[in-house]
Amino acid sequence: MAGGRARLITELIEMLRRCGDAEIVRWRMSARRKMEGGWMEIEHIETAYYRLPLETMGDAGHGAIDSEELITLKLHAGGLTGHGYAYTIGRGGRAIKALVDYDLVPLLLGRDATDIRGLWDLMWQRLLYVGRGGLASFAAAAVDVALWDLYGLREEKPLYALFGAESREIPAYGSGVDLPKSLDELLAQTEGFLERGFPGVKVKVGREDPKEDEARIKAVRKLIGDDTDLMVDANMAWSAKEALERGRRLEQYNLYWYEEPTIPEDVSGYARLVRELDVPIAAGESLHSPHEFRRYVEEGAVGVVQIDPITNGGITASLEALRLADKAGLATSSHYTDELSAHLLCASENPVYLEKHAFALDAYLEEPQRVVNGHVRPAETPGTGMRFDERALKPYRG
Ligand SMILES: [Mg+2]
Repeated sequence: MAGGRARLITELIEMLRRCGDAEIVRWRMSARRKMEGGWMEIEHIETAYYRLPLETMGDAGHGAIDSEELITLKLHAGGLTGHGYAYTIGRGGRAIKALVDYDLVPLLLGRDATDIRGLWDLMWQRLLYVGRGGLASFAAAAVDVALWDLYGLREEKPLYALFGAESREIPAYGSGVDLPKSLDELLAQTEGFLERGFPGVKVKVGREDPKEDEARIKAVRKLIGDDTDLMVDANMAWSAKEALERGRRLEQYNLYWYEEPTIPEDVSGYARLVRELDVPIAAGESLHSPHEFRRYVEEGAVGVVQIDPITNGGITASLEALRLADKAGLATSSHYTDELSAHLLCASENPVYLEKHAFALDAYLEEPQRVVNGHVRPAETPGTGMRFDERALKPYRG
């Protein structure tokens, strides 16, 4: 209690020094919550780092991928523990853990865990000089996921209910990281997706020779027939000009969407692709803040908004991306983060698909997500419903 009072005084001094209106409002709200007893003081945060081996995969933008880094986070407040995490595709994970341990933990200790939006703003502001996205967004995400989980535990509600949403069944698609696979391997993977009942499948494109991409897409379309949706993902491989040419060649295979055709910085290039191609353009996994999503939506640069609550900067940031998409009447989907995204997409007006990604965390989760007839629903347990199986993770701790 004495620690909480000292923290309030420190905050008051900080607030007076900054003298910004938003800071004053935030402090007043925190003070009121503390007086009313709703305050949950953040007492302790612990993190761990793991390197999980993967069968070697690859795509046109990120090259070969043979491991996934997992940074787990436990946030203790008010007698409860919220669980969060961040992941990478094998690079940068130690820096994310260091940002949490050295910059965010000292910032957050003693603060009110129920002020999720306020803490997101605070983390963003504190890391602004080295952040505005990138690794800082992943670090903030690990904390933000734990805060939402804690909120669900306190309210005894699953995440989707905290958003004011109802549980819904969301179609899932099988997604390979399959650019290096031979055509036979690609078709075998696709058959596996069909056996699992997925109503859609996604294939990587970006082989040097456009004819090879075309042959692979043509063969997959022939295998799946016309009733299964087919998406392609270029992982930012091309210039906007080349993406336009490639897109025109691939459109004939009746694609459901064309994902990340060029680099995320080229927003006007994306807008041109949206205008000039018939196939919807999907993007979002490489956008690291609500500001970036706002620019895409306002400039007509995206047709399907894909959220990833880790790369986007947390659940708070992905919810904002979904609200922007809803306001613009856009379709929504997800990248990886199957378990969190099943909750988030329930809060969206037009969630067309959830991605069932090749990097499944199932082997490391106490309760892996169930896919029934190619569809998923969010977990019903309070919070995120995600708990890592520490015995399964233990051999990979770094
Ligand atoms: Mg992708």
